[in-house]
Amino acid sequence: MIKENLETVRKNIAEACERSARKSDEVTLIAVSKTKPVELIMEAYEAGVRDFGENKAQELAAKYEQLPKDIRWHMIGHLQRNKVKYIIDKTVLIHSVDSLALAQEISRQAVKHSLTANILVEVNIADEESKFGVPASEAAKLVDEIISLQNISVRGLMCIAPNVTDSKQNRKFFKKLCKLVVDINKVLVHNTPMTVLSMGMTGDYQVAVEEGATMVRVGTGIFGERDYNI
Ligand SMILES: *Cc1c(COP(=O)(O)O)cnc(C)c1O
Repeated sequence: MIKENLETVRKNIAEACERSARKSDEVTLIAVSKTKPVELIMEAYEAGVRDFGENKAQELAAKYEQLPKDIRWHMIGHLQRNKVKYIIDKTVLIHSVDSLALAQEISRQAVKHSLTANILVEVNIADEESKFGVPASEAAKLVDEIISLQNISVRGLMCIAPNVTDSKQNRKFFKKLCKLVVDINKVLVHNTPMTVLSMGMTGDYQVAVEEGATMVRVGTGIFGERDYNI
């Protein structure tokens, strides 16, 4: 089941790349495994997946301990400052940085562990009340503040687009995030250019790829519906 789902998702990504004249190796598929047991994660692993996404610090840390060490764990959920210490040395990329205070704590923990933390700035691209992330208008300022911190590297931007019935409705938001990265790269002369655009989930990853996503985060499309009552 997971193997077949993965084949479908990979094929859809490849086709979206073709439609937009991109190479499919420009896009990293992150299998979002939140709430899913290690047995199912291992099924995806056997089918070749090495990038997994979790949205809770403790869940990521626990799965890190139980699963193969060549897995690249992505922290994609809202992160509280006091939880940074659980994941700092277990994650390759924190997608959800939306305040200077959080970035400062990540920097502090990174120094303590003698590593460089890779992060993305999360943008509330559709100005939704219910969503985390900085407004698009404040993203450049936050990136600028973060790059002066020690042991932290801003690799790009992330967004969670609105929950819509027709994925094409989100095209404008993906375009907006793509443009934002280009604009910020122009003004931040001292930073290495941001190259990561983490956007697109089960409902809209094909459109996101057409608009330049370099990472898509797909949960339901690979593992099936989540049951939060278990
Ligand atoms: C859960 C989650 C996803 C995956 O959502 P699906 O719709 O199941 O693909 C992607 N990104 C974030 C930040 C998430 O929390």
